[in-house]
Amino acid sequence: MKRLSSLLLLLILVVACNEKEEKKEVVPIKKPDPIIMEFGFKLNDYDVVRDTIDRGDTFGSILAQQNLGENKEHEITEKVRDSFNLRNIRVGKAYTMLRSKDSAKVLKAFIYKADISHYYVVDLNDSIRAYKKQLPITIKRRTIATEIDGSLSATLSNAGVQPSLAQNLADIYAYSVDFFKIQKGDRFAVTFNEKYISDTIYAGVESLEASFFIHKGKKIYAFPFKQDPNARRFDYYDEEGKVLKNMFLKAPLKFGYRISSKFSKNRFHPVQKRFKAHKGTDYAAATGTPIVTTASGVVERTGYTAGNGNYVKVKHSATYSTQYLHMSKILVRNGQRVTQGETIGKVGSTGLATGPHVCYRFWKNGVQVDPLAQKLPNSIPMLAKFKPRFMQEMTPLKKELDSIAAIKFKD
Ligand SMILES: [Zn+2]
Repeated sequence: MKRLSSLLLLLILVVACNEKEEKKEVVPIKKPDPIIMEFGFKLNDYDVVRDTIDRGDTFGSILAQQNLGENKEHEITEKVRDSFNLRNIRVGKAYTMLRSKDSAKVLKAFIYKADISHYYVVDLNDSIRAYKKQLPITIKRRTIATEIDGSLSATLSNAGVQPSLAQNLADIYAYSVDFFKIQKGDRFAVTFNEKYISDTIYAGVESLEASFFIHKGKKIYAFPFKQDPNARRFDYYDEEGKVLKNMFLKAPLKFGYRISSKFSKNRFHPVQKRFKAHKGTDYAAATGTPIVTTASGVVERTGYTAGNGNYVKVKHSATYSTQYLHMSKILVRNGQRVTQGETIGKVGSTGLATGPHVCYRFWKNGVQVDPLAQKLPNSIPMLAKFKPRFMQEMTPLKKELDSIAAIKFKD
């Protein structure tokens, strides 16, 4: 009997244990959904609809599809008019609608993404409110030092940097470094600031603080500096405060000229007696005045046409070419390398011209543009009175750049 009872007890225990375990399994361990916040809303609370503005969409037409009723629609458009430019919604831009989770799916918020870092909210949760918000922007400061291997942008990619920094460097060193001829052994170091939206979306190079480029054994430093601290304008200077040279001269004539006609989309042509675009800048000067190439490069074309007269076109980079018309004499050949300021021809009045002048044409990516309206490096020498402030700002930047480069290059 004793044995039986203990057996029974054991049986009960086993059953009880089983029961306990079963119970454990029955109770579901429910993890709460992760809270998803976006645009300042807890998305979990809404039915979320994401779409992009289609051709023909207006804020009104989007609202009209939400079964709000005409009165409510009208009330919303009236109330948000001041804070949200309703006419400004553009095809292809993203918008998000937050609707109630019940079957009625009532619109609670409309969010329009104006650009990568700004969005507009029309919040209908309580009263009708509209406001603009900016996503947080963070600046990441970095210094890299690396050796050229392939093109400049390939080198940057290999160093884990967005290749868009290549354009910044090319602009700074356009005159002093021939980027067609950079080679293995050339080195550079650069301290720069990158912009990120919401910590993750890369939004370009914000600014460049310091750099050097070693090309053919020559080390060229560049530090941006504002002579007028309140101005937006800055130029690049070397470690001694000497201004870095421009890629382009301001004019194709060295002296004794005047601008007789500017680049214009519509001017009265003095020879043809009709209105047409003038895609050049005319510099009037005496016949025979030397015409110089405004930047270094390779002569792309020389020749004669009825309109241009004798002309020379020079290619400076993948982006830029310049052209010089109405020459009395051409002094260069096709394929010839020319350096900035070198004489390439002489002023004349060949082709369609009323008097001696050079028509200077500026090509950017194959399109003729007004060089005077371009943001070209156009540096100004530093005034002596600003030099102490420059040295004070530059010295720690140079020290930092050099020490990081020294570690990288072990020298
Ligand atoms: Zn002209």
